[in-house]
Amino acid sequence: MKYIDKQQEPQSFLTWKGRNNADLRSRNTQNLSSEAKRLWKKLNGTPEKEAIKISLLKEQGYICCYCQKRIANDDSSQIEHLKSRENYPINTLDYDNFLATCDGGQIDNTNRDKSSSPSFPEYCGKNKGSNELNITPLQVNCDSYFQYQLDFVINPTATTISISPIGNDAANVLSILNLNIDKLKANRYQALLTLILKNPLDADLEPNYANLKSKTELEAELNSLFDQTSQTFRRHNNNNNFLPYCQISYQAIKELISVIYP
Ligand SMILES: [Zn+2]
Repeated sequence: MKYIDKQQEPQSFLTWKGRNNADLRSRNTQNLSSEAKRLWKKLNGTPEKEAIKISLLKEQGYICCYCQKRIANDDSSQIEHLKSRENYPINTLDYDNFLATCDGGQIDNTNRDKSSSPSFPEYCGKNKGSNELNITPLQVNCDSYFQYQLDFVINPTATTISISPIGNDAANVLSILNLNIDKLKANRYQALLTLILKNPLDADLEPNYANLKSKTELEAELNSLFDQTSQTFRRHNNNNNFLPYCQISYQAIKELISVIYP
């Protein structure tokens, strides 16, 4: 999990809320829920909602707030309510409660061959639904609770497991977001290969290990990408985005270097 440093909400959204008398805190509890639903529906399809999404994508360097998959301003991303609309209608229009999540497998499931394959498991915001996370990407130290293993599984760290109740919280986060399904493990593997191979990876081809970068090349590249302060990959120089799966890649690659470059 990667910390997200929330910025100011778009001015156009603030103006929209003023224009629509959308201060949910002023509503009485009886009609709060229906008002929150009505206003959220009203926001749909507006330029203001588009501005929110773009702002969130920029905050996150165009990766999913949970799985770190690449997302864009299209169907590959959705506005996620960290505190669910169902349980916290009062936070429905709070920018600080918004994150950008991936489609959670929805596109894959829509396109799958319905006659032969079972449906794929859902993940991230799609799987979370109205569940609550006790560790969130808005906590500065959120990544310290998780470790990224060479088999591309994410687990709570040993220290985290030993401390109650945070150990259970971390395990619950992984379960609620379904972050250890085969699909996401495969994506992390691909992200790692993309870093260590000289040629960009074609998903349909077997990786050619003759194209492995030399240890010197790889270490130089990692050093240029790694941000010592945040312990993650820095924003990519060319497009100002974070690398997909940036945390898993870095932590796995440190171990991998010691294995493949004796
Ligand atoms: Zn995701």
